[in-house]
Amino acid sequence: MKCIRCGKEDSVHVVAKAPDGSGAWEIYKCDVCNYGWRSSEPAKMLDSSKWDPFFSLIGVDLNKLMIPCPIPPLREK
Ligand SMILES: [Zn+2]
Repeated sequence: MKCIRCGKEDSVHVVAKAPDGSGAWEIYKCDVCNYGWRSSEPAKMLDSSKWDPFFSLIGVDLNKLMIPCPIPPLREK
């Protein structure tokens, strides 16, 4: 499956399914950009071509974005 946020192929896994076995919804997660979404999202959310381009990561070098926030040192008591 292709990620709807970063566009990478075969990067998406099912992480949860409707517990009643109805197939009513699934939750997906991309291992490349960590984006997660439900199969039951509104149609416009499942088609990234309809998104505001600001929210798309297609063509973006993710390594330049993944700068973790520094954790400040513990305060003295
Ligand atoms: Zn992704």
